[in-house]
Amino acid sequence: HAKQSGRNRLAEFVPAMTAATQRRAVLERELRRAIDAGQLAVHYQPQFACASGELVGVEALLRWRHPEHGQISPAEFIPIAEESGLIVQLGSWVLQRACAEVAGWQRAGGPALTLAVNMSARQLREPGFIEDVTRALSDSGLAPGRLELELTESVLMEDVSGAISFMQAVRALGVRLAIDDFGTGYSSLAYLQTFPINQLKVDRSFVQLLPQRGETIILAVLALARGFGLTVVAEGVEEQRQLDWLRHAGCDVVQGYLLGAPMAADVLAARYLKLDVACIAG
Ligand code: C2E
Ligand code: MG
Ligand code: MG
Ligand code: MG
Repeated sequence: HAKQSGRNRLAEFVPAMTAATQRRAVLERELRRAIDAGQLAVHYQPQFACASGELVGVEALLRWRHPEHGQISPAEFIPIAEESGLIVQLGSWVLQRACAEVAGWQRAGGPALTLAVNMSARQLREPGFIEDVTRALSDSGLAPGRLELELTESVLMEDVSGAISFMQAVRALGVRLAIDDFGTGYSSLAYLQTFPINQLKVDRSFVQLLPQRGETIILAVLALARGFGLTVVAEGVEEQRQLDWLRHAGCDVVQGYLLGAPMAADVLAARYLKLDVACIAG
């Protein structure tokens, strides 16, 4: 019986694997053309100062609308882009595009905002990356101090000395650095005093436990950050009571569906910056 059911399970498993592998191969091929085909967009999620409630920044999040499959989640296509090396091209595109859009809002009369851009490990090792950042800043006119690159702990731990020299080069440009998904990786706390970072982003898995659980870890992160002179962003704020708790605990910045989901550039400009969208486009 066991053998029989084992065989049945295998028979079901193999075609499923094949379908997943096929979809992956198709997506990789199509992702290569997605930039030129105009299927990619950068969406922006607003970030607010906890104390004043003021809009202080946005996080750039890549979106891919496939002509047949519709919206494909970054959770699916970012790993494909990373493994195929395509993330290098996609990452430069996001950087150029996001710097241009955010600088455009400011030129149109909006407030000066911080722009956070996510980075993959592969981009750190790319020799031309620092040049890409320099060009994105000079082409757009965005002040270097308005740009913040987000790195995860796993990216940093992959090659610690490489990461440190990369980070020093980024900081030398005047660009800021944040550790994303903080608390979920396996980095040593000792690195907080070695890495030239500016900000920690507490992972949403902790924020979502608030207010019943998660307080101890978040309070510890806030204390660590204060000790090292870093600011803290809480991501994934979905409930008012989570926001209230974070404000009371002295968290600096909040981001999450409660305050605003990631949205297209024109939507953010109209809704949060009260800018005339036609005037920016033109
Ligand atoms: P991340 O950088 O940690 O981004 C936060 C993710 O949480 C985003 O998912 C965002 O839409 C989602 N989120 C924001 N607020 C809430 C909330 O209140 N509740 C919940 N449940 N989720 C919330 P998204 O856009 O699907 O991106 C997923 C991940 O893909 C990002 O995680 C980032 O690691 C990666 N990613 C996205 N864009 C880029 C990019 O341009 N380059 C690279 N290298 N990675 C990217
Ligand atoms: Mg991020
Ligand atoms: Mg995150
Ligand atoms: Mg993440």
